[in-house]
Amino acid sequence: RAARHKARIYSLNREAARFFHRCLKSPAGASGYEYLKDRGLSDATITTYGLGFAPDSWDSLREFLRSKGYTQEEMLDAAVVSRSSKGHVYDKFRNRVIFPIIDLKGSVVGFGGRVLDDSKPKYLNTDDTPVFKKSRNLFSLNFAKGKTNGRLILAEGYMDVISIYAAGFENVVATLGTALTEEQARLMSKYAEEVVIAYDSDGPGQAATHRAINLLGAAGLSVKVLRMEGAKDPDEYIKTFGAKRFEILLNHASDMIAYELAQVKSRVDMKTDMGKIEYVKRCAYILSEIDDPLSREVYAATVAREAGIPAETVMTQLSAVLSKKR
Ligand code: ATP
Ligand code: MN
Ligand code: MN
Ligand code: MN
Repeated sequence: RAARHKARIYSLNREAARFFHRCLKSPAGASGYEYLKDRGLSDATITTYGLGFAPDSWDSLREFLRSKGYTQEEMLDAAVVSRSSKGHVYDKFRNRVIFPIIDLKGSVVGFGGRVLDDSKPKYLNTDDTPVFKKSRNLFSLNFAKGKTNGRLILAEGYMDVISIYAAGFENVVATLGTALTEEQARLMSKYAEEVVIAYDSDGPGQAATHRAINLLGAAGLSVKVLRMEGAKDPDEYIKTFGAKRFEILLNHASDMIAYELAQVKSRVDMKTDMGKIEYVKRCAYILSEIDDPLSREVYAATVAREAGIPAETVMTQLSAVLSKKR
């Protein structure tokens, strides 16, 4: 019975995705289509990702699915409709462009929806359902899985993934409006040995990068971090500087230690002695987390150079941290 119910939800989602995609291409979806075009998406990309549009209506999807024989219960279970406190059932996605979320078997399991302006919430995602657990899925892994060559790019959002993919890098995925989970890190480790984190360059992106470095490392992945300047996320970067420059960034991604050390440097005032001391202390702590003694020494030399002090001084500081830990 449960299997039959799941099969119904899968087919309902498929129908909903087709409905949204048809809307995007119809006059009723002109505003959504224009929005995607303005953001630089080609028709080919729109087709590849099966992008769609949810009309500005409370019941157009509900009516469509009813005409296809789906019950209100099934629509609620697929989470494509919501129920108000007064018991009214209405379409969850309205006046939004739609990003179908597709699992590894090619089934539509959920949707993301973006507003066409600056209103809030900017993105809505399908809640967890019998066929969809947000924490276990990665957007676009269905496309990326056969194309990794051992390496995956991890971005923040739908538009970043789509831009990176359209720029010729198909080995890209994103979490779905949530922080990266252990399960997602494990999932990535099945398809790649290395992950390049390409999160936004803003504060939240940096905090998320720090978290992701630890989670991905714990899953046994080798981690690199893309350093973007002049754009707040990969989508904007590619639009501003082009695919070629993005490829150069990819090929020059920092290893995670270099990234962490650079982060510390950017947060202290290296023009003052106090700043330098702070820098060396915090870096010594980061170096103390490295298992390999040779690597520790190599990075210690970098820290020393940055601070303009002898490498031995950094090593002494590092020894102090290490002995405190033991
Ligand atoms: P865009 O370029 O369309 O403005 P973005 O992908 O750059 O969007 P960010 O604001 O950087 O969006 O957020 C990154 C990701 O986080 C989004 O793609 C989306 O998955 C998720 N997200 C953003 N805002 C929200 C929100 N209000 N609710 C839920 N998820 C969100
Ligand atoms: Mn962001
Ligand atoms: Mn962003
Ligand atoms: Mn963006």
